[in-house]
Amino acid sequence: MTATLTSLAELREVVADWKRSRLRVGFVPTMGNLHAGHFALVDLAKQHADRVVASIFVNPTQFGPNEDYALYPRTPDSDLNGLQARGCDALFLPTVEEMYPFGTAGCVQMHVPGITDILCGAHRPGHFNGVATVVARLFNMVQPDIATFGRKDYQQLQVIRYMATEMNFPVQIIPAPTLREADGLAMSSRNQYLSAEQRPLATFVYKTLCFMRDQAGLGLPVPAVEAEAKLRLEMAGYTVDYAEIRRSDLRRPLAADEKGLLALVAARLGRTRLIDSLEFDPS
Ligand code: AMP
Repeated sequence: MTATLTSLAELREVVADWKRSRLRVGFVPTMGNLHAGHFALVDLAKQHADRVVASIFVNPTQFGPNEDYALYPRTPDSDLNGLQARGCDALFLPTVEEMYPFGTAGCVQMHVPGITDILCGAHRPGHFNGVATVVARLFNMVQPDIATFGRKDYQQLQVIRYMATEMNFPVQIIPAPTLREADGLAMSSRNQYLSAEQRPLATFVYKTLCFMRDQAGLGLPVPAVEAEAKLRLEMAGYTVDYAEIRRSDLRRPLAADEKGLLALVAARLGRTRLIDSLEFDPS
């Protein structure tokens, strides 16, 4: 039975009980509209913890003024059923008022320098401040021993890792592989924005990442590979935010003969923004 907790007081009571029994607490933060990718995070958390809390909170501070905050799909009933089926112990559903008791304007914020202004951060100003801010608050609320995050949102994963390390949050961050549809499209709540005509084209993001990995693996110069990837996406009808190859830590620039690389793409098909990434070792 998944307990639904709508207030911080209820959450604290449940978690305190677990901790008194020396149970390890796992945490899966989400924005809801759960799919197999989210449920895999719950499975992973269960492997590393005795009890698992998932949260659903569509966080206003990580959306820009012209983004899809109001439209973001909210499906609490089917989310709860799915969590129940996966054996998740508790679902935390905080309100905006409880998350931001003094309002969102002028609230205390987290900023993780050196990583939040590149890639998605360059195209969504303030986005990662909002992400880091809400995850820090959620960590303080849930006080988990471990938390799982998807590699699908690779830059987000790195922001959280740096924040948790530097701020000494006593939580282990466990990354999870990206779950994909049969044609390679990374599962995402935003995929449902795609029209029937756009959906077959959406696999092209993953195909482009594979192309970038293969071309870089052949030793072709990275700037040429990136330019070709961008061009291919544009030819397929995308508006491209970026198509880049980076070191997987994302912070330091690429050097020659580098191992542990990452191809990253963010591109829009109509009004749907798709992001994906692929890690590889050029041999
Ligand atoms: P979201 O609800 O989109 O904020 O995502 C919540 C968590 O689920 C984040 O850690 C995401 O990286 C992760 N996630 C979303 N889609 C996938 C996927 N296709 N595979 C693995 N993890 C995912």
